[in-house]
Amino acid sequence: MIMTIKSFKDIKIDAICVFCGSRPGKSKEFTDVARATGRMIANAGKRLVFGAGGLGLMGETAMAALEAGGKVTGVVPDFLKRREIPVPEMDELLITDTMHTRKKIMYDRSDAFIILPGGLGTLDELAEIVTWFQLELHHKPVFFVNSLNYWKPLISLLENMAEHGFVDPTALEYFTVVDRPEQIAELLGFST
Ligand code: AMP
Repeated sequence: MIMTIKSFKDIKIDAICVFCGSRPGKSKEFTDVARATGRMIANAGKRLVFGAGGLGLMGETAMAALEAGGKVTGVVPDFLKRREIPVPEMDELLITDTMHTRKKIMYDRSDAFIILPGGLGTLDELAEIVTWFQLELHHKPVFFVNSLNYWKPLISLLENMAEHGFVDPTALEYFTVVDRPEQIAELLGFST
């Protein structure tokens, strides 16, 4: 399923932020898609910005990017770095004082956002980036990778919210839904 396909080829992309689960999920498909996302970013010569942690899909994305010779920035609050132990060998690790500073840095450092399957932390991060788009605080591309139709219930919820008049129907155009990260490379005009 691909929704709201636009051309982003004129936007200059140096760094891409990936929001995703700190857990691996139950299907190997999720791990595969996280690794493909890390590889896609590295092979395009772009920097991965993420939450630093070595666990779950976060770790898989970053390790795959590093293995492909990519540049990786991890951003983690001081209190969390013992629980979400940072991936080794990142070329940049930024330690913040709060979660809010973490998100601000991830936002400021990135030119596009990719949302992979994840839990409540991912939900918080995606909600903010999509609502900031709504408030026109940014015009950066946002992509949802819909592995195993993971985001279908969220998209249905947004449609329901629009149907009941609490969300503008154009909200569904704030982001682009793809099945595979390789489609993002194509949409952003990367030569890989
Ligand atoms: P999760 O999707 O719950 O596995 O979390 C993914 C990442 O989101 C982890 O690095 C969490 O530390 C992070 N996270 C959780 N809650 C928040 C939040 N309110 N703001 C920013 N990051 C968060």
